[in-house]
Amino acid sequence: MAQEQTTKLRVIAFGAHPDDCDGKFGGTAAKLAKAGYAVKFVSVTNGDAGHQTEGGGALARRRYAEAQESARRLGIAEYEVLDNHDGELMPTLEARRQIIRAIRRWNADVVLAPRPNDYHPDHRYTGVLVQDAAYMVVVPNVVSDTPALRHNPVFLYFEDNFQRPAPFRPDVVVSIDDVWDTKIAGLDAHVSQVYEWLPWVDGRLEEVPKDAMARKQWLSGVRAGRIGAAVRAALEKRYGADGARIQHAEAFELCEYGRRLDSEELAKLFPK
Ligand SMILES: [Zn+2]
Repeated sequence: MAQEQTTKLRVIAFGAHPDDCDGKFGGTAAKLAKAGYAVKFVSVTNGDAGHQTEGGGALARRRYAEAQESARRLGIAEYEVLDNHDGELMPTLEARRQIIRAIRRWNADVVLAPRPNDYHPDHRYTGVLVQDAAYMVVVPNVVSDTPALRHNPVFLYFEDNFQRPAPFRPDVVVSIDDVWDTKIAGLDAHVSQVYEWLPWVDGRLEEVPKDAMARKQWLSGVRAGRIGAAVRAALEKRYGADGARIQHAEAFELCEYGRRLDSEELAKLFPK
């Protein structure tokens, strides 16, 4: 049993805000955690700008509590929130050091983050910061207060719809039909976001049901989304005939700056 535990991979995911990892990776994270992987989420900002009527420290504390509840529901080991202001993240040396420390302390085998092209500057700079930490995590004289890793982890990007400079490429796809309810339960913990801020920004706040069960069902519908052609093709390749019937999936693209794996090795990292 102990032997088995030590061979399980250590995974760390970075989002800009304390619900980003949940939305992009929550299903796969729940699956990995269930399989015994050590999974950690990090929000690079504290989320203190993500609301139409609340803000500052009070909002950051509310969102921290939501993130902890989401982690509990997803079954992941940790959800860390770095105390950087929301909406003002910059790819500074200090922020890069925070990322390098987090990856090293987790002794990560796999690191996930957004691609560095995205509508939100915090998402973009989170992508840049994690890219800048790739490779540097193995350099002992950089951030010398935290022991360097001996092996560069595998770095992967979350899926997005942005076309420039290049469309997302699904190098590995995971069916999350079996954990869809768990993913939605995780997101449901982010009340300030999924039922207040995001619907307000989208001009659909009146659509949100008042009843807790009804709004969770609404959330599931809102988040279901369409599986694009490239991801569908990758699902059919990985899952055979079942791939055409998968309703919910998450996909990831390999970053060239980390450890390079071919598609077969990559698929082995992620249980079907
Ligand atoms: Zn975000």
